[in-house]
Amino acid sequence: MFDNIHLSFTLKESTTGTSDPDVRLMNISVATTIANILRTSLGPRGLAKLIIRQKKETEIFEADKQKTFVITKDGATILKEMASEHPIAQIIANAATAQDSVAGDGTLTMVVLAGELLKEAGNLINVGVHPTIIASGFSKALKKSIKILENLAFDVKVTDYEYWEKIAKTALESKIDFVNRDHLAEITVEAVKRSLKTVNGRVKVDIDNVEIIKKEGGSLSDTFLCDGVFVDREIVRQDMPKLVENAKIALIYGAIEVKEVKGKDLADMKLSITSPSQIASFLEKEAEIIKKMVEQIRDSGANVVLLNRGINDLAAYYLARLGIPVWNRIFVPDMERIARITGGKVVNIKELSTETLGHAKVVREVIVCGKKFLLIEGGRGHSTATIFVRSGLIYEAEEAERALRDALWAVKNAIEYGKVIVGGGFPEIALSCSLKKLALNIEGLQQMAVDAFADALLIIPHALAKNAGLNPLDALSILKTEYFNGKMYLGIDAAKKNIGNMMDNGVFEPLQVKLQALKSATELAISLLRIDECLLYK
Ligand code: ADP
Ligand code: MG
Repeated sequence: MFDNIHLSFTLKESTTGTSDPDVRLMNISVATTIANILRTSLGPRGLAKLIIRQKKETEIFEADKQKTFVITKDGATILKEMASEHPIAQIIANAATAQDSVAGDGTLTMVVLAGELLKEAGNLINVGVHPTIIASGFSKALKKSIKILENLAFDVKVTDYEYWEKIAKTALESKIDFVNRDHLAEITVEAVKRSLKTVNGRVKVDIDNVEIIKKEGGSLSDTFLCDGVFVDREIVRQDMPKLVENAKIALIYGAIEVKEVKGKDLADMKLSITSPSQIASFLEKEAEIIKKMVEQIRDSGANVVLLNRGINDLAAYYLARLGIPVWNRIFVPDMERIARITGGKVVNIKELSTETLGHAKVVREVIVCGKKFLLIEGGRGHSTATIFVRSGLIYEAEEAERALRDALWAVKNAIEYGKVIVGGGFPEIALSCSLKKLALNIEGLQQMAVDAFADALLIIPHALAKNAGLNPLDALSILKTEYFNGKMYLGIDAAKKNIGNMMDNGVFEPLQVKLQALKSATELAISLLRIDECLLYK
């Protein structure tokens, strides 16, 4: 009880507050500013952002330290890189990351829509509608929208490869120019074919099995797909076999060195060196331990060794004599991927046994794009594919990687949920028009909120039209009129920069992505509307 009194006292003493309605309007203003920045990147004709890194050294991953700038149209990446200190900006960035990890695409749609919903909400607040009424109106509109979208969607079968390609193209073309789109869409489809598996009678796409490697040089049209796992490492000794068929792979966690020996063995090794002759005895002991380790590898039946740390020269020499090739200093995530694909297990050398070995048809050294790689093909575990992205410009290769990830996710979502919807702004036009009609039957001030929700949805076709160089207001009025006249699937044809039939143009998106973007945008807008006070506790 006393604690409570003390707490409230402290809070009053050291807290400064900004309260309703200022805080709401401030939050709305931050969200709409972010949405306005992102809006110009939406769709195939959207423009990229050049983001100059200003993050503190400690906030940047080691691998990214060299990069001082990023050029991208990807919503999640832009928000992550913007490094805003404002809490609302951080909440939006987190929501975009969540959208990306749940649906793999649709981040710009989500943030742009959330910004517009908040802008509409701000207008309602200004004319005296209470935020809780707006929130419940938005929730109602969302519920109806989900039903309408589900009715607009149609089924795709797992074997509808034609759809797969169209879905991949739609996801890719918003980041990659139309010239390279078709080639990358083909690669995406092939990669997904290699990632199919059945879990409890349902088809799943395991896109973790698709590795994307960026190699500077060539152009995006030289991007290619290979079966197997590629690892950017060279063989330890040139006299080791560079090709092993029927490979039994020891996946060792740690190093093959004497200092790896711990516990009892270390106690056995205790030497006090008082004369030069004892050094020889020490080396002998060391050689003996190394020999033991090599024998353990040989006895497990392994004919290939992969490890994440270093190897002692003597051990490498013995293994070379046994005809067992070694690749060392492989990243742990790569080791784990190899384990999954070959059905093996990454273990400490002490735990190595026949049961922990991975199995593959072939393990060999190959030269790709002028560089030596370890290649593992035909694993006993999951199938796998590697996409080599080629480009003379590293930032273009990075954007292509993000586009490929979006496309892989899009096809995965379409296959796993079996539903697709046409894109190009048509769903938002259809939703907006239907909700406007429905709003007429809603009594009270909630009607205004549903109406505002319907208006906010139009921001997507508006932005697509504007980015394609069309007059957005003209485009919207044509699209709405045609929809009311019963003409289906009209949207913004970004390729021809005109109004077009999205079904005929093959602009398809997974229903799942659209639904998730709509849900997340509404939830984000509602949660920001519910904040009525900002307390600064010092
Ligand atoms: P997000 O991060 O939301 O996925 P994108 O920049 O990928 O943002 O843009 C997605 C939008 O672009 C969707 O509304 C999609 O329907 C639209 N789109 C994709 N391809 C085309 C096209 N060829 N014509 C018109 N709109 C397109
Ligand atoms: Mg996209």
